[in-house]
Parts: sequence; C-alpha cells; structure tokens
Amino acid sequence: MSIYLDYTADTPPDERVLAVYSNSAAKHFANPNSSHSLGRDAKDVIDRSLKTISKLLNVNTDELILTSGASESNNLAVKGIAWANRRRGRHIVSTFLEHSSVSGALTYLQEQGWEIDLANILPNGKIDLEYLKSLLRDDTVLCAVSAVDSELGSVQPIREIARIVKEHQNCKLHVDITQAVGKIPIDLTGVNTASLAPHKFYGLKGSGLLIKTKGTVIEPLIHGGASTTIYRSGTPDSPSAEALACALELAVNEFDERYKRVKALNLILREHFSKNERISINSPEGAVPHILNVSVNGIKGEQMHRLLDKHGVCISVKSACSVPNTPSRPVMAITHDRKRALSSFRISLSHLSTEAEIEEFIKALDDIIKNN
Ligand code: PLP
Repeated sequence: MSIYLDYTADTPPDERVLAVYSNSAAKHFANPNSSHSLGRDAKDVIDRSLKTISKLLNVNTDELILTSGASESNNLAVKGIAWANRRRGRHIVSTFLEHSSVSGALTYLQEQGWEIDLANILPNGKIDLEYLKSLLRDDTVLCAVSAVDSELGSVQPIREIARIVKEHQNCKLHVDITQAVGKIPIDLTGVNTASLAPHKFYGLKGSGLLIKTKGTVIEPLIHGGASTTIYRSGTPDSPSAEALACALELAVNEFDERYKRVKALNLILREHFSKNERISINSPEGAVPHILNVSVNGIKGEQMHRLLDKHGVCISVKSACSVPNTPSRPVMAITHDRKRALSSFRISLSHLSTEAEIEEFIKALDDIIKNN
C-alpha cells in the first residue's frame, strides 16, 4: 500500500462530490444552451451551482467563469488582462513563487513584447512589499500573485497587496487561489481576478473557475458562441459545475475540522525534522500546514523522490508541472542557496492522512538518510 503525501498535486474526490457528479451527469446531459425543457433544466443546474459558489466566495454569480482547470483560469486572466489593456501599458509585475501556468503565460507575453518584473521574496516567504511598490508604474497593467504558493505554502497578505495595487489606476490584481481554497479563509476584497480548481480540494479534475469582478475587462482565450459567458465559449458542463459547488461547500463547511487534523500532523513532522541536522525546513513558520517543503543535505530532491517511491511513499519534488532537475524557484528565492534548492522536496498533507502513515514515512525517510 502506498502512502500518499502529495495532496498539493491532487486530492482524491470526496464520495459526496462523486455522487453529485454521477447523478447529475446521468440526468443533466442536455446542452445548457438548448432552449428545450431538458436544456433549460441543465442550465438551471449551472445557475444554481454558480449561486452556491458565489455565496461561498462572496462574489456575484455573473462574476464566475467556468473553465477546465486553474491553468486555463490563470492563462485567461493573465493573457486576457494583458491583451485587453495593451493600449494602457505593457508592463506586468509578478513573483518568483508563481505556478508555471502563471509564469509560463508571462514568458509568452514577454516574447510578445510585454515587460515583466518579478518581486523579491523575503526569507519568511512573503513578497517584499516595498520592492513590489517600487516595481509598479503608470504603465503596469497587471500584478499577478498567488495567495498560497504550491511549493512552500507561503501565505501572502492579499488585502495589503490589493491596497498597493489600487494606487495605480491602470493596474489589475490577479490572485491564484488554487492552493488557498480549503487551506486558508478566502477574502477577495480588492482582487480583480482569481483562479481555482476543485481537484485541489477533493473535487474533480478537468474543472476550474475564474472569478472576474465586474468592470475588469479581459479578452477571451476561446472564441465562439456566447454560451453562459462571453469570456469562455463551449458547452458549459452542468455536472462539473454542480460537483465544483459541492466540493467548495464541503471545503468551507468542514474547514476547521480538516485544518486541525492537518496542523497536528504537520507539528509531528516539524518536530521530528528539527532533531535531524541534515534536514532543513524550507516552508516558513507561517506557511499553511498542508505543505511542508524540506531539504536533506547531500541528497538531491529527485533522488529522494525515487528512494521514497521505492518505500511506497508518494511525495513531490517541486510542483507536478515544473521542469525536472532544476532548482526549486521558491526555495532559491527565500534561501538563495542552490544546493538546498536542488535537494528540496515537498510533503503535502490532508485531513485524510493518518498518524500511522506519518510514522511510516518518518521511518522510511530516516532509513534513507542513514544510508545515503
Ligand atoms: N496554480 C497553482 C498554485 C497550482 O498549484 C496548480 C496545480 O498544481 C495550478 C495553478 C494548475 O492547476 P490545474 O492543474 O487545475 O490546471
């Protein structure tokens, strides 16, 4: 039996979410854009689901765009804002902590002539806000940050960042909340766009959301019919929308209970790691307890990944979508230590993780460290 400690990459769908999806998929197969009765029923499912989601996130229903996942949502926000505001300016500010679906979209824009600046990260994992302030200009059209990054689990002060960004009238704020949902309370005050995907909080893959507040203009990535939104053409997926609403509802309603379990397991690991001088903890103290990034002196992250895999333990080196055999950008950003960044790996925890699994993992890790 494998010990799964990679919940940041993906979570198993909750049985209640699966039940909602399979009932809905059997019943609401009609195209929600069709005007016959079954089409109208399928459209009702979307409307009801968006209503639930909007209440949970404290936004309006017409501010929600259903997508295929957080990568699409990030691309739609980043490219969509850049393209729509290209006459106002071609400067974008972001950070070294972003997921490849944000940093990749920025690299693409850079190749098209946009200028990109990245804010420094302080040793406590927070964005250097003074530096961020100094980067913002009259022609900055976008500031893209993650509320919680996927490698260290650092939590960013989004309200404060929103206040800083607001001082620049051409600049919009995009926040990647993919790793924040279910891990911290969500507050979208002052945010123009935000992306998430339910497969990170016990929902289904192939489904995502972009929250785009009223007055934020974006260019669509996918053109076609108006569908339920002009920002994303294609047949809307009623069962996916219903499953997303269910997963989000569970993440919000069961937040405290889930968080407490994860925090307790995180403390066991932190305490154990602090006793071994070959282990450095990279995740800052204030990081979400679900993500624990560490380095073992003398063992590369990729090697550790393979060795733990042999012991039946699934962890991850960096985020699942990043380039292999390169130092972790977030660990580099906070430690400026290439060796430490190359030997880092990520353990990610869930309320489904058990103390027995943590003990097994510790045994395997200690064994590997002793023999390598
Ligand atoms: N943003 C963050 C912070 C992530 O951790 C991930 C997935 O790892 C994504 C975006 C991309 O999500 P998806 O796989 O749904 O496209």
